[in-house]
Amino acid sequence: MKPARFTYHAPRELDEALELLRDLGDDAKVLAGGQSLMPMLNFRLAHVEHLVDINRIGARWASPTFGEDTITIPALVRQRQLERSAEAARLLPVLTEALHQVAHPQIRNRGTICGSLAHADPAAELPSVLTALGATFTLASARGIRTVPAADFFLFHLTTALEPDELLLEVSVGRPGANQYSAFREFATRRGDFALAGVAVVCEVDDGVVTACRIAAAGVAPTPQRLTDTEQLVLGQPLGPDLGAAAEATARAQVDPTGDIHASAEYRARLTGVLVKRALADITEKAHA
Ligand SMILES: Cc1cc2nc3c(=O)[nH]c(=O)nc-3n(C[C@H](O)[C@H](O)[C@H](O)COP(=O)(O)OP(=O)(O)OC[C@H]3O[C@@H](n4cnc5c(N)ncnc54)[C@H](O)[C@@H]3O)c2cc1C
Repeated sequence: MKPARFTYHAPRELDEALELLRDLGDDAKVLAGGQSLMPMLNFRLAHVEHLVDINRIGARWASPTFGEDTITIPALVRQRQLERSAEAARLLPVLTEALHQVAHPQIRNRGTICGSLAHADPAAELPSVLTALGATFTLASARGIRTVPAADFFLFHLTTALEPDELLLEVSVGRPGANQYSAFREFATRRGDFALAGVAVVCEVDDGVVTACRIAAAGVAPTPQRLTDTEQLVLGQPLGPDLGAAAEATARAQVDPTGDIHASAEYRARLTGVLVKRALADITEKAHA
């Protein structure tokens, strides 16, 4: 099927894009990689009067920066670009691990990191990863710039804190210390499908003991779900099989997913526990390597 008729805008500057979004308001949608928006328009699950294509707003928004304190991923960084970045793999391996499992390479070639975050599919990998990394979201509009923590960015299924005139300009995370270890685990019925559930775990480990921990699950709630009970459980504990087993039970009890034709609620809850256990086993291996 073809999309319903819309007016296409291709601004050449960020300011021009923001002015268009201000003037067009609710009638406009941002087009980044088009890997979620175009299928929705083609299937007529979504309708827009105006598309504001941000792909030409400048090379500055198409490269990540790995600063001394902060790593920043601007709006036009493609998923595949970051997946192939040696610097990202060294500093943010949890993101690289998750990116390998997002859709297929053709989709990752065009799809952007920020587009996936702005789309906010609860089963998507990247919202949970950026939540576990404690990311900060920079939102730009003609009114100015504001920053929002991950906890306040994802509001509901396909719903974020972005106002209609705002662009997700970039997402940033703190540069990790040498004692940060992380892992991403998911299960999907076919490679490239959305996961039935996934978990991102980011820990700080000193002498085999967990000194800080963030765990975020995908596919089990309308937004990425922080597994705070499980985080509390592992804090101050030595990594190892006993901790993995306890964390599995806690995570399973903490989530309350819904069931659908792909998996029952009970299955998704059990899966979440198993994935937490496996991610902690990965972290144990990395910390002891
Ligand atoms: C067959 C298929 C399988 C897929 N499987 C997976 C999967 O397993 N896991 C997964 O996570 N994703 C999957 N995806 C989705 C894919 O990752 C998309 O690339 C991503 O969700 C959207 O990124 P995009 O840059 O293409 O955004 P677009 O499609 O251009 O936009 C998506 C939405 O976000 C808004 N938007 C985009 N960028 C911005 C911005 N900077 N500021 C404000 N709003 C913005 C748009 O207006 C739109 O509402 C799949 C897609 C397809 C077609």
